[in-house]
Amino acid sequence: MITQIPFDKIKYVLLDMDGTLLDKYFDDYFWEHLLPEKYAEKKGMTFGMAKEELLARYKIHEGTLNWTDIDFWSREVAIDIPALKEQMRHLIEVHPHVEDFLKAMRRHNRKVFLLTNAHYKVLDIKFRKTELGKYFDAAITSFEIGYPKERLEFWEKAAKLLGFDKEQSLFIDDTKAVLKTARAFGIRYILYKAYASSRAEKGRSRQYMALDDFGDLLDGGKAWYNETGD
Ligand SMILES: [Mg+2]
Repeated sequence: MITQIPFDKIKYVLLDMDGTLLDKYFDDYFWEHLLPEKYAEKKGMTFGMAKEELLARYKIHEGTLNWTDIDFWSREVAIDIPALKEQMRHLIEVHPHVEDFLKAMRRHNRKVFLLTNAHYKVLDIKFRKTELGKYFDAAITSFEIGYPKERLEFWEKAAKLLGFDKEQSLFIDDTKAVLKTARAFGIRYILYKAYASSRAEKGRSRQYMALDDFGDLLDGGKAWYNETGD
């Protein structure tokens, strides 16, 4: 299936960060375990109660800019979230073969853009830990754009700002709601990253071609790389 991605027609590679390039385990652990634990301590409640309360509050802001705004959450729970994330940075891991894929895209002169809903402070922590920043022509956050990736406005503004042509773009993300908007906007080639977290089950999709591992793209593209040599 993956070998059907025609890299010779793709000039722009648009990539999500959390769950796609990086193991989502870090984020799941942070929001579903560590923060409830700290919140429980602060409020003098049980972990179970704290988790239930926080999950309900996350749900309200899902798919909005608030959800991605860690300063918003710092205020909401009265805990310094950037500082807490910084303490946990050793848990940030890059998915297998991501770096090889990024190197290959650079070598073959593709424009590589990171499009993330993550807050710029989180992006900064993650780039410092993983050193992936050097592979990107640009990295933009939904915070800078003013809309999350689930909104069409994000795509309109991002395309203008970065100058990518949707007909010649490949986009990879682990969130189906985001893929749906990218497709509605007209991004031609779309892949769903199926293993977002190393500790969770494989995500499944009937609507999008799934990418299990970035190594699959390297194998799929190999023949083309050798043929054209560009
Ligand atoms: Mg993601």
